[in-house]
This record gives sequence, structure tokens and C-alpha cells, in this order.
Amino acid sequence: MPTPPVPSYRGRFAPSPTGDLHFGSLLAAFGSWLLARHANGTWLVRIEDLDPPREVAGAAERQLRALRAFGLESDEPVLRQSQRGEIYRLVLEDLLARDLAFACHCSRSDLAAVGGIHRRCVAAPERPGRMPAIRLRVADHSVVAFQDRIRGAQTQDVAHDVGDVVLRRADGYWAYQLAVVVDDAAQGISDVVRGADLLDSTPRQILLQRALGLPTPHYAHLPLVLGSDGRKLSKSDAALPVDPQRPLPALRAAWQALGQAPAALSGASTVPQLLNRAQAEFDPGRIASTPTVSLAAMHNGDFIFAD
Ligand code: GLU
Repeated sequence: MPTPPVPSYRGRFAPSPTGDLHFGSLLAAFGSWLLARHANGTWLVRIEDLDPPREVAGAAERQLRALRAFGLESDEPVLRQSQRGEIYRLVLEDLLARDLAFACHCSRSDLAAVGGIHRRCVAAPERPGRMPAIRLRVADHSVVAFQDRIRGAQTQDVAHDVGDVVLRRADGYWAYQLAVVVDDAAQGISDVVRGADLLDSTPRQILLQRALGLPTPHYAHLPLVLGSDGRKLSKSDAALPVDPQRPLPALRAAWQALGQAPAALSGASTVPQLLNRAQAEFDPGRIASTPTVSLAAMHNGDFIFAD
């Protein structure tokens, strides 16, 4: 009998263009790239430009340029979520037609009065002049369990902890949860590797995959990096973009944040050399399974941020 084809590894890095590439995003980019290369897989970049009010003009292009400087380039054309509204609309219509999604006029303050979690509408069904949000109907006791490749067994009762998931916001913009599920499936992503800040979004993404009859990829959530002051480096720390003019120190720091031995890269003096060494020496088993790692301990005074 012919052996069935082994499904090929397809990973991705999916930044939102809300600022320049910072160290936490470089870690997600480099970590997902290393895991894809380790599996002889394909690595894609997708721009998640769904939220114009939070986006910074030119940030997507600067992020792509910075990735190029770090030697991390998409193996296929970059997908932009801003071009995919029609697909999201069709998916939403299907969910509405099957009564798996519903229109909701509850405002944040309506929900705050009932504990902040949507289980049933508390606002009037129509509010003149206001668009409803569209939510996924989450059944009571929707407990989702999955095995994260870094963090191990995870479980969440989505009904209790999250409630009915917003798929299209009341301001008309698509919710990240809908777009990420649709696009991971459309791009045939087998392995989602990203920062641990998205670990608790995963169960709701799995529920949505089930509602849409889509496969669930493997998940691996990388530790978040804490700054020297113990605070998370987040996209809003716009003061800390990595410096694409000096890619080597930032790549070395990201390598260490991924638990890898610094000595493995010693001697590499160009980006291609460093990436070749990294690819050859990478050991996924060394990635910390803790929620965070500290940047202070690893960059040894190297200047990795832009001025
Ligand atoms: N666009 C999301 C972010 O930048 C990441 C989405 C994902 O990796 O699933 O936080």
C-alpha cells in the first residue's frame, strides 16, 4: 500500500502593523522561522492589518523591511488581511445562516454590569443608528483542551472564561479571532508559533475552527520577554524597536531568549552565516516552558534597540 503523504509543516509570523518590529516580535518571527526550518517546512509572513484605528502609517512596510534585514523573508507572497474582507464576510454569513453566530447590541458597559462576559444579550435587540457586533454562540461548558508544544496541556472553559466570542466588532471591523482562524486555514498552516500572550486566545480559535469544520493546527507559545524592569516588552513599547541596522546583536539575544546556547553562534559575522549556524544548531527542546524569560540576563549590554 502506498504510504500516505506526510502533511508538510507550514508555519507563519503574523504581525499587526501597530508599530515597528520590537524584540518580542523578532522573537516570535525568529522562533517560528527556526521551528519551520527545523522541520524542513515553509515559513510565511502575514500582515494582520485589520484594525486601522490602532495601526501606524508605514509600519507594515517597516516591519517587512526589518524582517528582511534580519534575513527572515516569507517563502510565499505576503498575505494582507485588509484585502480579505470578502472572505471573512462569506464565513460570517455561513455562521449566521447556521445560527452559530448572532447579532449583539450589548455595549461594554452593558456587559460590565453583568460581570463582563457575554452569555446572553442584556441590551435591547435593536439600537437605532448603531451597528451590532456579531458573536460566535458559545455553548455552556465549552471546555477546550489542547496540547501546546511548548507549554504542555492546556484547558479552558470558553463559555465561562470568555463568553460569546466577537467575530465582527460593533465598529464594523473584523475581529482578530475570526481573521486568524480563517487565514491560518486558508494558508494551510500546520503549526502556529507565537508569543504566550496569545495562549489564552487559542481555545476560542479552536472552537471557531470546529464551528467552521476547519482543522486545528499544532500550537507552540513562546515565552514572553520581560524587560530589565520586569515589564513585558509589548508592541506599545514603541520606544523599543529592534535596530535593523545592527541585526546580529538582536538575533543573538533572540537566540538566547529561545533557550539556545550562545556559543553555537559565535564566529558568525553576517546574517546569512548566523542563520545557517542557527538552523544547524537549533534545539527546540531548549525553549523554556515558562511563561516569561528575562531580557536583562541575556543581552550582555549589547545594544539591540534602535536609538
Ligand atoms: N497579529 C497578532 C499580533 O501581532 C498575532 C497573531 C498570531 O500570531 O496569531 O499580536
